[in-house]
Amino acid sequence: MAIAAGVIVALVLYDIVPDSVRAVGLIMTIGLFLAGVAVWVGLKTSLSQSASILPISLAIWLHSFLEGALAATSQRLDPHLGTLVVIGTMAHLIPEFLALTALLRYYGASQKQATVIYATALGILSISFGLFKFIMRVGETPLQILATVVAGGMIYLGVNTLYRLFKNRHGAYGQA
Ligand SMILES: [Zn+2]
Repeated sequence: MAIAAGVIVALVLYDIVPDSVRAVGLIMTIGLFLAGVAVWVGLKTSLSQSASILPISLAIWLHSFLEGALAATSQRLDPHLGTLVVIGTMAHLIPEFLALTALLRYYGASQKQATVIYATALGILSISFGLFKFIMRVGETPLQILATVVAGGMIYLGVNTLYRLFKNRHGAYGQA
């Protein structure tokens, strides 16, 4: 489980941070991450404990939507770079699937639910890619800003899970 949470943190950092820093700068990237953490904490506390896989699913789906949009937009703006982004996006889906389904199961989803949630994410990614490649024309910077905010939520999720696992291992508190 710690590995899955760590993989999420690593994937998000590897996925989003370099592009975000290039698009909006380091300070702005950090600010956007913190905004994402705040949004996610708000979302999570505003939904009941029994529905705790819902905010995670929303974060996953939003992340997939923006990933598709970014891949399509960067391919439109620069075909060579865009192809690299598309390959990078495809390559991270397998570790992402394994890590996210493990995370969803940790938060109470069944294997079947976790698979359906991730399959939905892949559908959203494909639709968003098609939408932004062929229909919608937007700049890379606003998409990158949104993607960084969402990534802040994903990072929070990974770090929070690692923290809970660490606490549980040391037996100080029960599983929250
Ligand atoms: Zn991803």
